Amino acid sequence: MPSMLPYRRHEPSVDPIPLVLDSPHSGEFYPEDFDHAPPRELVRQAEDTHVARLYRGAPGVGAALIEANFPRAYIDANRSLADIDPDLLADPWHEPVAPSRKTELGIGLVWRMARGGVPMYERKLAAAEVQRRIEHWYLPYHRALQALLDARHAAFGAVWHVNCHSMPARGDALSDDPGRERADFVLGDRDGTTCDAAFTALVAAELRAMGYDVAINDPYKGVELVRIHGRPAERRHSLQIEIKRTLYMDEQTLAPNAGYAKLERDLDRLLAAIRAHVLGQR
Ligand SMILES: [Zn+2]
Repeated sequence: MPSMLPYRRHEPSVDPIPLVLDSPHSGEFYPEDFDHAPPRELVRQAEDTHVARLYRGAPGVGAALIEANFPRAYIDANRSLADIDPDLLADPWHEPVAPSRKTELGIGLVWRMARGGVPMYERKLAAAEVQRRIEHWYLPYHRALQALLDARHAAFGAVWHVNCHSMPARGDALSDDPGRERADFVLGDRDGTTCDAAFTALVAAELRAMGYDVAINDPYKGVELVRIHGRPAERRHSLQIEIKRTLYMDEQTLAPNAGYAKLERDLDRLLAAIRAHVLGQR
């Protein structure tokens, strides 16, 4: 077993409310067996660097926050287990395979490409090593998030889940919108299927009132985590929030920029508004 835990959980510091945040892509611990070919600086551009830190106000509003410690390029917690590219593997894969558009782009469960479309590996991966990544990193993260959502739902009869991400300011070769400048925030509810419309509308309205431009389901609709956990008919609401990285960091060096502190304050305001919404809906 690797010495690093697969995730970190931040418990509410006040009375819990049925709100859970997860940051699947901000992990910065690179396991020793991740022998990527491009330089680490390029591979790290896959990360949603700083995202879990930007939401550090979550426990203060009664939310729990869970963050992955492993890097998204190593194994992507926001993909389905079937989203695998058999061509990446040296030997046969004995589980179901259903490559999505993300795998076609090189960014499925195990990324084949680094940012800009540079191959991630100089070799094929053994099926057994991918299996280990799933067992040691991916599944524990998924189980922990599921347990947290189930516990809040059991206690309150409803749960709101915010799946936290950041995105490059412009689409590249690995995206469906190459070259296009993104909005400041992109909310994804898989075309209105993963949460109550009122939740998406509330988050959009709060961010717009702070002066941000907000797109909805364009170009990101939300992927695996909101798909699994968003079942509004069961009062399980999941919303993906993508933040444009240039609002808070330099996309090359990953260093926080002058906007970081303001964004953090604005996310605190957003969390306070979500708290009020959640308490009002219970
Ligand atoms: Zn992400």
